[in-house]
Amino acid sequence: MITHGHIPEHDAIIVGGGIAGLTAAAHLRQMGHDVALVEARQDVGGTMRTHVQEGFVMDLGPQTLLDSQPDVSRFLDSIGAAAHRVEPGAASRKRFIVKDGAPLALPRGPGDFLSSPVFSWRGKLRLLAEVFVRSTSPVGESVAAFVRRRFGEEFLTWAADPFVSGVHAGDPEALLVANAFPTMVAAERKHRSLLRAGQSRHGLYGFEGGMQMLPRSLARHLVSSAGPGRAQLMTGTRVLRASWHGPESGHFDVVVQSSGSSRTRSLSAPVVVRTDGFRHDTSVNYAPVAVVVLGFRREDVLHPLDGFGMLVPFAEERQILGTLFSSTLFPDRAPGGHVLLTTFVAGARRPELADLCDSALVDLVMKDLTDLLHITGPAVTAHVHVWQHGIPQYDRAHADMLRSLRDRERSEPGLFFTGNACHGISAPHTMSHALRTARRAHDAILACRTTRP
Ligand SMILES: Cc1cc2nc3c(=O)[nH]c(=O)nc-3n(C[C@H](O)[C@H](O)[C@H](O)COP(=O)(O)OP(=O)(O)OC[C@H]3O[C@@H](n4cnc5c(N)ncnc54)[C@H](O)[C@@H]3O)c2cc1C
Repeated sequence: MITHGHIPEHDAIIVGGGIAGLTAAAHLRQMGHDVALVEARQDVGGTMRTHVQEGFVMDLGPQTLLDSQPDVSRFLDSIGAAAHRVEPGAASRKRFIVKDGAPLALPRGPGDFLSSPVFSWRGKLRLLAEVFVRSTSPVGESVAAFVRRRFGEEFLTWAADPFVSGVHAGDPEALLVANAFPTMVAAERKHRSLLRAGQSRHGLYGFEGGMQMLPRSLARHLVSSAGPGRAQLMTGTRVLRASWHGPESGHFDVVVQSSGSSRTRSLSAPVVVRTDGFRHDTSVNYAPVAVVVLGFRREDVLHPLDGFGMLVPFAEERQILGTLFSSTLFPDRAPGGHVLLTTFVAGARRPELADLCDSALVDLVMKDLTDLLHITGPAVTAHVHVWQHGIPQYDRAHADMLRSLRDRERSEPGLFFTGNACHGISAPHTMSHALRTARRAHDAILACRTTRP
């Protein structure tokens, strides 16, 4: 029974208008179903959020997407969003690692690797010896233990650790390799060596005008697409609890819960559907991430910014996790004669930094950037956003949570979970999971129709 708010009868209710919920809703619409999507904030997108300020286009969540999921590419084509994709500029290919107080380019080929100052000769030999490591990953192995076992301590410190900080905002000693990087464990099993398995190379892309263009165009597609079924988009509406098909509820056949990774305040019109326990994220640990976006006059940054950005290993004992050279990646992110830098702070190993006030965060970032990129003038614009529940950590608690989600889905037919707390923290992995979840929900709706009296 709906006690607040009004959602007319639909085949499916989707909770959460982040990229997972929107993808699941749009795919269910493509399969001809009536859907209602309920989003707590006034705008869709969740962490895929773009802020425009003084001519700078600032992405506060995802900056680029990896073209690694063929089902996602097909889906983007089918909704017309692929036409708005933009590829990063050629100047952004280099990646920097900060070592001994300076950004050093990571090697991009065998020749570079031999001459690279990032690793010592000893470290390079240990890395190449990976092909002789015969052991395979035991159950419960951490990312750090996996990398140490296969590639040695030096590679862990100067390559894997900053990568894990940059992508997961996480601690490699706490994340489980089987959950955080399942493809590496599979490659080890299959090829007995990651070097022998080779690297699959996928392109990166963004969207013109910022990443939030994608969820916004998905929302438009959802409510305007032709064909059977209809869609209702309710923003500014928070679902507190929901029930699904059962003796007490004739309103929905399925509920797709995608809201696990965000909690939002300042909500209006709460929707309460029944009194079942609902949130699935109580046992997931989230790393907070503070995003500090700064614009500069080009001549005030002496570093050429000729790359994707720089990652900062924990061993460097700096405050920042890394900085993306946003306007090198996508020139439309800064007005002419200016550059835009996006810096990430806090994460699982320094969560207390996310509690600093905005001006303290800007000061802390300015201090590190001035040193590392030789900044000589003040920022002309600044914006700070803190995601207190930024990135779910795929640690032991997460593995337990996944088991309990599977149990709940089995014991409560019609209830489905998706979102980046499930199987892959990146937006493309999240979308791919949402597409699979929508297909399972579609089967459940058809099953309801055949059994309904
Ligand atoms: C700083 C940062 C940088 C990132 N960078 C990248 C990157 O470069 N590339 C990449 O691929 N991924 C990146 N990610 C990860 C990516 O953002 C996520 O994987 C993806 O956006 C998660 O989508 P989601 O729909 O699962 O969750 P969310 O985006 O969190 O969406 C959940 C939605 O549910 C809503 N909601 C919550 N509770 C309720 C309720 N009770 N009722 C109704 N609605 C509710 C929320 O308001 C929110 O809109 C980054 C994440 C962060 C935080």
